[in-house]
Amino acid sequence: MRVGIYPGSFDPITLGHLDVIKRSAKLMDELIIGVLQNSSKVPLFSAEERVKLIEKVVSDIPNVKVEAFDGLTVDFAKKRNATVIVRGLRAITDFEYELTIAQTNHKLDEDIDTMFLTTSVEYSYLSSSIVKEIASYGGDISKFVPESIVDLVRDKYKIRRSE
Ligand code: ADP
Repeated sequence: MRVGIYPGSFDPITLGHLDVIKRSAKLMDELIIGVLQNSSKVPLFSAEERVKLIEKVVSDIPNVKVEAFDGLTVDFAKKRNATVIVRGLRAITDFEYELTIAQTNHKLDEDIDTMFLTTSVEYSYLSSSIVKEIASYGGDISKFVPESIVDLVRDKYKIRRSE
């Protein structure tokens, strides 16, 4: 059985992430989306909230699971018997960073390989940071995040603005 991990911050999940999830799930028996708890950035959504948002979005894809994790991605992969780490490549600027991580992970555990999916053209500019920037000014994010979470992301900023 081929199990893959798709690790990331997903703060919040975007249509670009969802595109990678749908395409990579077809290549695996099981895909586990690993939501990073210990990211160096301070997240907008807690890991628990990010897991819930993703679960809402992937509920109709049967071989996809979502879990928060802490620590090294290769350790998480090993625990879940995964042999593949999935990452998305948007532009050449992603490449250098991703190459280093992939090579390091392979050094840490030679049984685990990283598989890169190039982004679909329509999402190549899209990032969670852009979504947050637009939402923070009350802009329309419906073209950037899955429909089922648009209101939840918008509400998060409404709460913040009223605090
Ligand atoms: P991280 O903080 O670890 O970079 P992200 O949540 O930003 O995590 O992204 C997780 C993964 O999804 C990364 O491999 C990233 O390159 C990829 N990704 C992010 N946005 C897109 C997009 N628009 N299209 C394809 N892949 C993407």
